[in-house]
Amino acid sequence: MRINIHRGTQEIGGTCIELRTDSTRILLDAGSPLKPESATLDVVDIKADAVIISHPHQDHYGLIDNLPPESPVYIGKLAKNLLDATRMFRGVALHTNNFQFYDKWQSFTIGNFRITPYLVDHSAVDAYAFLIEAEGKRVFYSGDFRGHGNKNKLFETILEHPPRNIDLLFLEGTMLQRDNHNFPDERSVQLTIREVIAKQENISFIISSSQNIDRLISAYKACTSSGKIFVIDFYTAWVLEQVKEVSKGIRALDWRHIAVYSSGPSSGWLYDKMKKNRNRLGGFINRVFEHTVKEADLRADPSRYLFLGKTGCHRLIDSFKSDKIIPLIYSQWLGYLNDDTGQDKNSAAINRLRTENVPGVEFIYAHTSGHAPLEDLQAFAAALSPKALVPIHTEFAYLYENHFANVLQLEDGKPYEI
Ligand SMILES: [Zn+2]
Repeated sequence: MRINIHRGTQEIGGTCIELRTDSTRILLDAGSPLKPESATLDVVDIKADAVIISHPHQDHYGLIDNLPPESPVYIGKLAKNLLDATRMFRGVALHTNNFQFYDKWQSFTIGNFRITPYLVDHSAVDAYAFLIEAEGKRVFYSGDFRGHGNKNKLFETILEHPPRNIDLLFLEGTMLQRDNHNFPDERSVQLTIREVIAKQENISFIISSSQNIDRLISAYKACTSSGKIFVIDFYTAWVLEQVKEVSKGIRALDWRHIAVYSSGPSSGWLYDKMKKNRNRLGGFINRVFEHTVKEADLRADPSRYLFLGKTGCHRLIDSFKSDKIIPLIYSQWLGYLNDDTGQDKNSAAINRLRTENVPGVEFIYAHTSGHAPLEDLQAFAAALSPKALVPIHTEFAYLYENHFANVLQLEDGKPYEI
């Protein structure tokens, strides 16, 4: 089996790994790079028989738009629904790829490759690692994963029953040289959110991705246990409705402590996108209005609400300022705030609230990574015990040798044969 990592040996994001036999060529992920200075990559030129997407994060699927429409793209069904959600609510045309759906633990074949998807715990839902078998070789691709989210059981199960006889493991290393800033797991984030909102006297805000489902659940649970209402937007409500389809524990709009915000320009903008996608959203577009709150409701008793904000919510935050402190819970990677270019005005406004001690607002950081810290990566590598371990999705490939056995450093674009 021949391997060519087109991108990913020296950076986080933009991952694209080619595996080839005498008859078949597949790509594992086709991601957009996160760094603007990253080398461009022409996925069409690779002429793969199929592309397999591990999870619905841009840095793993972002290049699929460039593929010819007949080229098969394998992805989880929920993951595809979330790609559609993003596009619908941004007012962008949906992907026109030839999507094929795989399911957890169900092996499928592409040419003479046999692929088995392993559902993993990550900050994206419907995220997978893959066992790939061909020509008598067994390769494992970790995708992005962790062992400290709501699906941590999946991590423990893989440690207890690892796939055996692995010739080569591609192991992500996002967290090498990063730490989790006192939030070792999702549970600790939830407890902090609860602690903050339980004693709030004004409205509180939480800034987080709408597709980090674990985080939405943490915020929601914090609300149920402190008697607050979690206020989300139309887009997030639709995302939760998609997750509800496959997850029994998620009741989305039917949850008692949830409400959908229907006032203000941002709601109007999202409502406009809903109308344009009426045929795709079905009954949701009416049903959602049975669960809305308006600005006047929030103003009547702000202390009842935890508001899911985006980085553009600083004006709304400003409008609630009073002699009662507004807790602002920042619940995503802090790196997003460190935009040196000053181009992202919204991040800059939120960053000011963090750094300038603005009266009336208390900035609180509460976040745990979507990626495994070093000790979990080591446990994972030890369990799989591969003949070769290849760094991927990391800025610190050269440090792997200090932490893992059988490290094999590959370079972007340089083929290797096992
Ligand atoms: Zn990811």
